[in-house]
Amino acid sequence: MKKICLRCGCNSLISDRSLGGKIVCKKCGSSYIGYKGLTYLKSRNILYLMIIFVVFLIIIL
Ligand SMILES: [Zn+2]
Repeated sequence: MKKICLRCGCNSLISDRSLGGKIVCKKCGSSYIGYKGLTYLKSRNILYLMIIFVVFLIIIL
């Protein structure tokens, strides 16, 4: 699993010593760091699909 910046998608990260070794994005300085993986997106997509499905059912009924 590769760590990326979730704000800009940049994968060049640095650990800021002034922030106590906290990992921040080199590009935008964001500390919103996450793992590059499909599991997060996948589960989110399924959730969206479920919501759409429920809304669709409500419209039909
Ligand atoms: Zn960034």
